[in-house]
Amino acid sequence: MTLPTPDHPRYTSLLLRERIVKGIEMGITAKQGLVAHGRGETFDYLIGECTTDWAQKACKASAAHIILAENPVISVNGNVAVLCPEEVRDLAKTLKCKVEINLFHRTPERMEKIFEHLVNKGIEAPIGMEPDCQIPNLDHERGKATRGGIYDADVVIVPLEDGDRTQALRAMGKAVITIDLNPLSRTSRTASITIVDNVLRALPAIQEESVSLEDLPRDELRSIIDNYDNASVIAGSIEQMRCNLDTVCSSL
Ligand code: ATP
Ligand code: MG
Repeated sequence: MTLPTPDHPRYTSLLLRERIVKGIEMGITAKQGLVAHGRGETFDYLIGECTTDWAQKACKASAAHIILAENPVISVNGNVAVLCPEEVRDLAKTLKCKVEINLFHRTPERMEKIFEHLVNKGIEAPIGMEPDCQIPNLDHERGKATRGGIYDADVVIVPLEDGDRTQALRAMGKAVITIDLNPLSRTSRTASITIVDNVLRALPAIQEESVSLEDLPRDELRSIIDNYDNASVIAGSIEQMRCNLDTVCSSL
């Protein structure tokens, strides 16, 4: 595999693509994950491959939510496991979140490989290997969950998630934070907080926001959440994409 030099305009994007390909070779990422990644790349192009002010606002509200949570859990799938295991580890450590593996295309082999990979990357005791309950109204494999983990979580962080699962988790009364580059997806439109950003940029951004919020009293954290308006954040993200398209069109 020949990678371009870091001054190549698509360097980071190509690097991430290689991680996904490697994930497939390692048996961690499903082939379908490659396609999902491509969909994300498209929207990253449109958003300008940066964290917008809208995404930053969503990261701040997410940090407030996680700090106040009693049992926050980060859900990890095969794409997240290869794209950003270190970022998951750091956020989980800083904000005392559990990490639970949940796969759309679940097989015992993939579960095992992801578990080992996460442990090798320094994530302590990921859960999800021995699910003992089921998320209501979600088909058998995807709906597998763990007591004390996602099943009992009050706040769930679901990067690169599927719409059905997001809706099922919301229906259980949980606050659902998603990171999804596509502001039009069902996940984006049904999550409590939608961060329209690349997972690689968003996880560190949540962590940075949490550092600046950690000394705030609980009622101030609560008011950040209460004053947060997810619909306007999604609309702003779409508007940003529209502006970026206009800028390119007018330069042609
Ligand atoms: P939904 O089921 O919510 O309607 P979908 O079916 O269009 O969404 P899925 O394949 O279920 O999409 O979920 C993958 C989502 O993750 C896509 O919306 C894609 O844009 C997004 N995505 C892919 N890679 C990244 C990434 N690196 N960072 C953030 N989002 C990403
Ligand atoms: Mg889907």
